[in-house]
Amino acid sequence: MKLHMQILIALGLGIKRNWHIFFGIIAGIFVGIYLHGHGNALVANILTFVGQVFIRLIQMVVIPLVVSAIIIGITSIGDNKQLGKFGTKMVLYYGIITSIAVIIGGALALLIKPGLGAAQYITAHTAASVQTSVATAMEQQQGNILNLFLGFIPSNPLHSFAAGDMVPIIVFVLIFAIALARVGDVNRPIVSFFESVFAATMKITDWIMFFAAPGVFALTASAVSSFGVDIFMSISKYLGVLLIGFAIQMFIVYPLFLKFFSKVSAAMLFSAIAEAMMVAFGTASSSATLPLTIACCEKRGISHKISSFVLPLGATLNFDGTALLQTVAVIFLAQAYGVVLTPFLVVQIGLLAIIASSTCAGIPGAGLITIALILNGMGLSPEQLVAGFAFLFTIERITDMFRTLLNVTSDAVVAATIADNENEINYDLLNNPAAYEEIA
Ligand code: ASP
Repeated sequence: MKLHMQILIALGLGIKRNWHIFFGIIAGIFVGIYLHGHGNALVANILTFVGQVFIRLIQMVVIPLVVSAIIIGITSIGDNKQLGKFGTKMVLYYGIITSIAVIIGGALALLIKPGLGAAQYITAHTAASVQTSVATAMEQQQGNILNLFLGFIPSNPLHSFAAGDMVPIIVFVLIFAIALARVGDVNRPIVSFFESVFAATMKITDWIMFFAAPGVFALTASAVSSFGVDIFMSISKYLGVLLIGFAIQMFIVYPLFLKFFSKVSAAMLFSAIAEAMMVAFGTASSSATLPLTIACCEKRGISHKISSFVLPLGATLNFDGTALLQTVAVIFLAQAYGVVLTPFLVVQIGLLAIIASSTCAGIPGAGLITIALILNGMGLSPEQLVAGFAFLFTIERITDMFRTLLNVTSDAVVAATIADNENEINYDLLNNPAAYEEIA
């Protein structure tokens, strides 16, 4: 069967099974558009409340789940050689997928030139309306790259846990888990403890998913109502380039990547993770979606050994959708302000987008803040930077929903590929969509 047919069928299957979440997204879009013209504070408050309840519930399980998954995953891999092999493969695959995203974003932006003539939309007026967000981003921009990496090493892990800083948490847990694997049988009590923690957090994730449809509905409705449709008119070219880029990555790059590096069918994988994809879209947070990504992958045959190692790291380091957006956004601003895009500058933007995206957190809006890292070297005046940022902020949420969808999907693509390469995948489960019913 042709690849695109397989993908369409998979999406159809996913939609059938997860129709309630899908319906939540569609209804959210319509209600959001309606509410934009008929603002009602009470309805807006209720939507925000319902959305936040859902986000907070899933965030609640992220840390115990990440910690227990990594500890069980690494101690079950056991020997250092295998761990090194998995780790190297993971970095390589994530690197390839992000680099392709950057190349696609760059090529489309240079070809379609969405920024030409766009300066008229980037006004001081927009800057004033999103002042606080811009101020935060500008402040974060002060730090240099070395400081950023320094921040990944937790001087006090408990502080990182309390603050929910995912990268330092993962760094600490990785080192701790490798040490546990090294000390041999004496690690049993701790590993058994975390096995129980993992099982319980997975159970909670299942329960929380009963709340996914209203949660995703409310999040989508309040996101759409905050910008309405009119804004799309003025930025249609920019948004168009982004959507084409996202679609190429999703429907061409991922399937080809899977075909090239594994025997995994993109159709089956997409059907397996349909629920996680929709929650990623609704929440715009790959960290918050992580429990569900792990649940979907494991229940459809990707071994715990692989998913518990590759997915948490992916949700922390792999942001190909974000990298694509950052490349397009920076080239867009450069075109709007008439910055000459030399080949050297374009390559610099691409490389910085790979770094900036991987340093971002899997939470809403993080990708736009780390974009500052790339904009720094563009030679824009402080006023242009503020106005440029402000412009990007106005359509932040909608682009975030799409890029997070990609970020989460590519985590699963890489996990499935490594699982295939290492014989850690049960194809009977993966290729049997009926198995998915168990999760919902
Ligand atoms: N919201 C994205 C994510 O969680 C990160 C970003 O802002 O690009 O994956």
